[in-house]
Amino acid sequence: MPLSIVLSVFLSAFIFASSARAEIFTKKTSIMGTDLEMTVSASEASTAEAAFSSVAEEMARIESLMSEWQEGTPVSEINRNAGIKPVAVPDEVFKIISDAVLISEASKGAFDITWASMRGIWSFAPGTERLPSKEEVEGRLGLVNYLDIVLDRPKKTVYLKRKGMAIGLGAIAKGYAVDRAMKKIVRSGIKDAIVKAGGDMRVQGSGPDGPWKIGIQDPRDREGLIGTLDLPNISISTSGDYERFFIKDGVRYHHIMDPKTGYPARGTRSVTIIGPDTETTDALSTAVFVMGPEKGMEFVKSLKNIEPLEALIIDSEGRIHSSPGISLTQTAPARP
Ligand code: ADP
Ligand code: MG
Repeated sequence: MPLSIVLSVFLSAFIFASSARAEIFTKKTSIMGTDLEMTVSASEASTAEAAFSSVAEEMARIESLMSEWQEGTPVSEINRNAGIKPVAVPDEVFKIISDAVLISEASKGAFDITWASMRGIWSFAPGTERLPSKEEVEGRLGLVNYLDIVLDRPKKTVYLKRKGMAIGLGAIAKGYAVDRAMKKIVRSGIKDAIVKAGGDMRVQGSGPDGPWKIGIQDPRDREGLIGTLDLPNISISTSGDYERFFIKDGVRYHHIMDPKTGYPARGTRSVTIIGPDTETTDALSTAVFVMGPEKGMEFVKSLKNIEPLEALIIDSEGRIHSSPGISLTQTAPARP
């Protein structure tokens, strides 16, 4: 899968760090339908290997809880029982769904995990691209509404009120998985690491030559960066219209849906959110993408209880909008 954030540490990442005699180890694998890249600084290969395998185990565990593709996962069970009955789920799943609903409320429905009720009529996977008819979109749109997710906190049950409704955690669970992965790495005694799953990334400590440098990809140039950020202990997520898309009759259709229209959100090419944890940045990058540059930036500024929180938005004209705390070392102007 194409990468939305490119690490610009490639060259320096593979040399020995002189001070701590630590070495950089990297591992690339695939999880939850996306590329997982881990970079850790450790003095022994065995420490890195142990960390990598604890992450693999953790990712598999999260996938078995949150996947809507695997049969029998709590999320699949919720979907299977839509309009039938509430489903009791493990605490972790209940927490992520509750968080998702909070973000729906805050974003006035721009973020909505019931977007998945549209599943099947849209397809963005290479080779199976599908543009639905207006009637198909209208037929499903009534099922997309987070207000129809019924959460019973004491019983830890989730109920989707209407038959045919479905939830999909594609815009929040990957970020959560990245947070969990980093926790595993830190628990194994490693202080400096990067975990990146598709567009979601957690950066911990620093690289061999100072802060890790994170490149922000130019949404219209796969090889190009619009700039770099150097950041300690932070999460970064990017949502872009270039990740999964097809072009039909000159129109770009991509995988971030506006729940109000049933069509891909317009007005934005990419959104990068920097924040305290990756579950939050993952969900907010999607929410802000759907809201568009102006409303999205206002929304970010209104979330005073999330700290730090910064946004870099590239609008449909290629203009960059960034919140005051972003200091981007610009490498090239975004393409028009
Ligand atoms: P990526 O998966 O490339 O990291 P995002 O984090 O922005 O990108 O998530 C996009 C995914 O989120 C889509 O593939 C889909 O699973 C889901 N999604 C699409 N539209 C919405 C929406 N409005 N609210 C919540 N989830 C969405
Ligand atoms: Mg996201």
